[in-house]
Amino acid sequence: MSVASDESYDVVIIGSGVGGGAVALSLAGTAARILILERGERLPREAENWSAEAVFAQQRYRTHETWYDDSGNPFRPGQYYFVGGHTKFYGAAMFRFREQDFAGIEHAEGATTPWPLRYVDLEPWYGEAEKLFGVHGQAGDDPTEPPRSSPYPHPPIPHEPIIGKAVERMRALGLHPFHMPAAVDLHAGGTCIRCGTCDAFPCRLGAKGDAETRLIDPALRHANVTLQTGSEVVRLITNDEGKRVVAAEIRRGGQLHQVRARLFVLSAGAINSAALLLRSADARNPLGLANSSGVVGRYFMNHNCTGMMALTPLQVNATRFPKTLSVNDFYFASTASEKPLGNLQLLGKIQEPMLRGALPRAPQWLRRWLARHSVDWYVMSEDLAQRDSTVRVRDDGAIELRWKRSNLRAHRHFVEVAKKLLKDIGFPIVLSKPFGTDTPSHQCGTVRFGTDPAASALDPYCRAWDHDNLYVVDASFFPSSAALNPALTVAAQALRAGAHLKSRLHEF
Ligand SMILES: Cc1cc2nc3c(=O)[nH]c(=O)nc-3n(C[C@H](O)[C@H](O)[C@H](O)COP(=O)(O)OP(=O)(O)OC[C@H]3O[C@@H](n4cnc5c(N)ncnc54)[C@H](O)[C@@H]3O)c2cc1C
Repeated sequence: MSVASDESYDVVIIGSGVGGGAVALSLAGTAARILILERGERLPREAENWSAEAVFAQQRYRTHETWYDDSGNPFRPGQYYFVGGHTKFYGAAMFRFREQDFAGIEHAEGATTPWPLRYVDLEPWYGEAEKLFGVHGQAGDDPTEPPRSSPYPHPPIPHEPIIGKAVERMRALGLHPFHMPAAVDLHAGGTCIRCGTCDAFPCRLGAKGDAETRLIDPALRHANVTLQTGSEVVRLITNDEGKRVVAAEIRRGGQLHQVRARLFVLSAGAINSAALLLRSADARNPLGLANSSGVVGRYFMNHNCTGMMALTPLQVNATRFPKTLSVNDFYFASTASEKPLGNLQLLGKIQEPMLRGALPRAPQWLRRWLARHSVDWYVMSEDLAQRDSTVRVRDDGAIELRWKRSNLRAHRHFVEVAKKLLKDIGFPIVLSKPFGTDTPSHQCGTVRFGTDPAASALDPYCRAWDHDNLYVVDASFFPSSAALNPALTVAAQALRAGAHLKSRLHEF
């Protein structure tokens, strides 16, 4: 393939998800000419957006890439390549990590790596991110909640009846259920119509606060920001010394092109960013870019997650917007365990086509009945960073994901604790199914930041220790995964990095 003519910008941002979008918005309106390169296209707003048949059974939006697991088995990963990245499909649960998540936590199977910054450093940026995404929530109900200097931008989304009853019963047991922070414009003047699909579905109305609507589109209103879709970055090219990135090689319309810039911000998602840095190995950087420490593609984490259907055999669950409740009573030591177990929260409403994979032999009427009579939960435990939990690039160029799972004893115990709790509050039958390697929804950790260049790839502002003009701002910088949904933390740190870059643009 020939390489077509060069283009040149001040800043190239690779990936239009949360990280890339937040930096683009931070630098919008400056004198810098910014190009966002996105491998996917705009996700069309169409009837299939809300069809479980299309989204789950036909996997209409999932990538057709083949990845390989640690046994060499091929699989089609739960990856979505569109403007806005994975937030086009996310469940809009927008949590701040807890203060202890940054300082380090002792788990049953080991301690987490402390972050090179503390909660207080991210706190203002969490507030900014909540404003940008339009988060609803209520402070004060969850004892694990960190201090905040700004209120939630919107009041909490009220619980629907069956959820409200669960809250009352949990409170009667001495627990502290709280309103899940949610980025959905379900308020006066908002466009959300409680369609019933949110988690794992794109929003046809743009009512979900995702990276496309909340970051990329506002950034594109500025003349200095350009988005180029259908442009997959295949390699980063460094100068003769191997110290500065000078160009991104991109595949667009079947041709290879090069785009040059003074500053490169990589935000292709934790798995693809690591793969790109590894694929960009050159004579001066034989282990890949940003990788003199050898950590790139290591410490892959993804949370231990189990889905649960708590059945209400005598009552149809008519809830339209279920994602209003979360419980952190087991997040740290509790009566159930001396060590942390994790977070319990509501899932989006499960529908019959979503059960076909888990219950292939069950007759359709049974799957339908289960889906109509269940309240659906998500049990999440921290995945601990392990050096040999890796993303690698095979000789044929494909991604190999060797996820070494950790902390599973705690997770299994948490599943039992959650099942008992749900039975105690009135759900007589609880079914559960763990999520597997093919759904790396909460991927993180593969280009970790830190204070020691020998043990981390990025500095505390996400700048590569090895390359002055390369930043990596997607979830790959996480040194630990916490046990809470990651998107707000990605946004907060990318806004922090964006502000830092804005003040130093002249240096590049
Ligand atoms: C079904 C689902 C539900 C989720 N629910 C929640 C939730 O409720 N709350 C929460 O906090 N998190 C949730 N998440 C996780 C959340 O979406 C991610 O943590 C977040 O989107 C990560 O943002 P990112 O910027 O790191 O990467 P991404 O969102 O993955 O963005 C990366 C972007 O880079 C593009 N790209 C990749 N490779 C290249 C390349 N080589 N060249 C050019 N472009 C490239 C991709 O197409 C994509 O647009 C969910 C995820 C999924 C899949």
